Amino acid sequence: MLGTMSACGQKESEPVKAVNVIYMIGDGMALPQVYAAMLASGEEMTFTEFPYIGVVDTRSASNDITDSAAGGTALAGDHKTNNAMLGMNPDSIPMMTVLEAMKAKGKETGIVVSSYVTHATPASFYAKVPHRKQYEDIAMQLAETENINLIIGGGRKHFNQREDSLNLIERMENELGWTVYDTLVDIDTTLKKVAVIANDNHMPKAAVRGNFLPSAVKTALRSLNGAENGFFLMVEGSQIDFACHANDSTWMMDEMMDFDYAVKVALDYAKKQGNTLVVVTADHETGGLTLPDPKGKYTDVVFDYSTGSHTCLPVLVFAYGPGAEQFTGWMQNTALKGKIMNACGYENLSDSIVDNPKPFKAVKVNLDSNRNN
Ligand SMILES: [Zn+2]
Repeated sequence: MLGTMSACGQKESEPVKAVNVIYMIGDGMALPQVYAAMLASGEEMTFTEFPYIGVVDTRSASNDITDSAAGGTALAGDHKTNNAMLGMNPDSIPMMTVLEAMKAKGKETGIVVSSYVTHATPASFYAKVPHRKQYEDIAMQLAETENINLIIGGGRKHFNQREDSLNLIERMENELGWTVYDTLVDIDTTLKKVAVIANDNHMPKAAVRGNFLPSAVKTALRSLNGAENGFFLMVEGSQIDFACHANDSTWMMDEMMDFDYAVKVALDYAKKQGNTLVVVTADHETGGLTLPDPKGKYTDVVFDYSTGSHTCLPVLVFAYGPGAEQFTGWMQNTALKGKIMNACGYENLSDSIVDNPKPFKAVKVNLDSNRNN
């Protein structure tokens, strides 16, 4: 995208830089989930409006099939790590995430999810722990971080029903400068350190929680809009993964439509602002979803899951806005942070060199179909 204005001192020929970034992750969402949702809804979803699309290799440092901790860590940072590790490389060296790098550049930051705020994907943007299940440590790191201005999601039990008996909610409010809400309604969007922890557990399924995620994105954009140096907002459609683990197509559809609506809110904002990069991707595929006609007559389509776990299928990345043209071709999940930093005109500040793709580790590829009965 070429600039035509010199309002920010840029010459006409210089590329426009992104001021704001909205980084969206559909947990467990690869092309099958996107296309299944379009088929079943009969709608051209928001994903079709993105001008730049690429392919992301999701392998972790330890496994060809990543989990959400290693997947999120790679999407947030520059290094692949071992499954279950958060915010650190395989040698347990903490990494600077894209959220932390943006904060260091003076941007305001936010996180919006439909899972625990302490779950693997959001935590990979702010926490540094050897295992994703250290929820109470992750909650403590969130409470004490100075890198987040706004966080919205579930997981209150990790703050106030803890084994160490601490009431972190009280500590966040009384000592650490947070205002903590338990609902999105009536939050003060002028405050600069806000947590909305709206459920003890993960947020309910989309069918029950209604428009929570898109509403939370709207609230976050109201809150971050006008930040002096722009903002970085991470959004996760957390439960596409949960639904695909359960091989539950109705739930998966609800979560996909919900996430698509959240993407639309972000894209509409970016189209209006002109200075906002929107990047939508996933950490991995879940469920081994395919869309065959079991009768082989090319007339019916069923949603057919091959596993209750994750697969190694690469995922897509969709991009819109200044710098979006970088998000094409085949890339490693560790490349996204650098591209986002570039889009904003920053060098990638971290210690790190982007990992080269590692050799494939799947020594047990079985070429026989598991559906031979
Ligand atoms: Zn999963």
